[in-house]
Amino acid sequence: MTEPFDDDRIPAMSAPSWSLRIGQGVWNAMAEYINRGDHDEHGGVLICGIADRPEGPVLLAREFVPAVDGVDYVPGTTGYRALTPAFLTRMTKRARRESWTVLMVHGHGNHGQSVGFSSVDFDSHESGYGALLDIAGGLPVGALVITDHAVAGDIWQPDGGRASLAMTTVIGPNIRTLYPSPRPGLNDNVGDDRQARLFGVAGRAILARTRIGVVGAGGAGSLIVELLARLGVGEIVVIDDDRVEIHNLPRLIGSRPLDAFTWLTRRPWNLLPAPARRWLGNRTRFKTSIAARAARRANPTVRVKQYQFDVSEPEAAAALTTCDWIMLAADTATARLVVNKLVHQYLIPATQVGVKVDVDQDGVIGIVHAVSRMVMPETGCLDCQGLIDHTALAREALPDSLRRAADYGTGEPAPAVAALNALAVAPAVSELMMSLTGLSEQTDVVHHRLIARRGKWARIAPRRSEMCTTCSTNTTSAFARGGSQPIAGVRLR
Ligand SMILES: [Zn+2]
Ligand SMILES: [Zn+2]
Repeated sequence: MTEPFDDDRIPAMSAPSWSLRIGQGVWNAMAEYINRGDHDEHGGVLICGIADRPEGPVLLAREFVPAVDGVDYVPGTTGYRALTPAFLTRMTKRARRESWTVLMVHGHGNHGQSVGFSSVDFDSHESGYGALLDIAGGLPVGALVITDHAVAGDIWQPDGGRASLAMTTVIGPNIRTLYPSPRPGLNDNVGDDRQARLFGVAGRAILARTRIGVVGAGGAGSLIVELLARLGVGEIVVIDDDRVEIHNLPRLIGSRPLDAFTWLTRRPWNLLPAPARRWLGNRTRFKTSIAARAARRANPTVRVKQYQFDVSEPEAAAALTTCDWIMLAADTATARLVVNKLVHQYLIPATQVGVKVDVDQDGVIGIVHAVSRMVMPETGCLDCQGLIDHTALAREALPDSLRRAADYGTGEPAPAVAALNALAVAPAVSELMMSLTGLSEQTDVVHHRLIARRGKWARIAPRRSEMCTTCSTNTTSAFARGGSQPIAGVRLR
């Protein structure tokens, strides 16, 4: 069905603008059901959580519920077809019990590069959504109309405000951004010359409006920040509460000996009393500050926001909820837990990178691993892979003094080398770049693991447990809940 659209019915709103984030699996299920190419109209509802970003509220798609043709979706009194009031009331009541927002979805055919509501569509919103808002109990309601290439939305807010949906991000191996109508230079439906998009104007524009979080500004994190800045990423949010020490210098990209006060080891400074040297030694440069300086030297237009906190601090975790992608380069279990939750609760893709060198008690080097693990909503989370160490989590949650006692005697610091970090970081940043610019030819998310001494790469397909409280869609899970739940079940310091 193609209907003329009536763009002027939603009052023009200035900022904030609403957007939708949706995993590729839910998008495909919805698009295939709604626009199945039989020239007929079909409908359903999209159940969503909500998060706040600086640009405006974001709807986070949790589940698509198809409306059964002839039962829930019937010939309308004013329009061609309509969702039955009974179906809408049932869905809205169910959503209200668990604080979800309901969007009614229908299609205007597969192929349109632009889409919008018809005046008949708007008439039905105006006659019905006031009553639905009452049932929704303080949450917004709204409608989407979709083709395979475009999405438009009409969002009704509990305070009486009404807004159109500015854009929709479909999150999968390739990140697609859909608008009500094509945006030359930004829309990924414009042209098929994918190669040009990476090196051309459109690819640069995509990267320039991207905000990437980097958790950990040590060896791997500092290299990631350098590469992202040189890629032309618009904004980098760097999180690390650590200051540089002399032994970090060889692997900290962009660091200088002076950042670690190397002069403290030389005369006359080494003659100072120990407390004075310790006092000075605790005032070396923050790792985030070294990363920010290196990023600006690489690309003077990049914006870098530094958070000199642990990632479990609410302010740091909140900054990550505004990002388009998170690079996890910190080696604590808490950092993994927090970022893993963010991926599934806020639908933000992430990549975990790390290098591990196994060393036995006698100092003999064992396996050298370098890993790059992309974590997408809808694919198995890090917890499902057994990659979040719950014993370590408990230890990390102890107050500092108790933790030092618990850590005592747990071995030598693992050796770390910049070249090994590069082995993990290069695939991670390359995959991010290809995914954001639409160049990826991957259909599934895989984890890369290099056994470096054998030169052997393994590709591991992540599993998703049906019982997982992070990434499944069972009733207890945090999936797509956005701001309605704490960020992680751990103490947020
Ligand atoms: Zn319509
Ligand atoms: Zn999981």
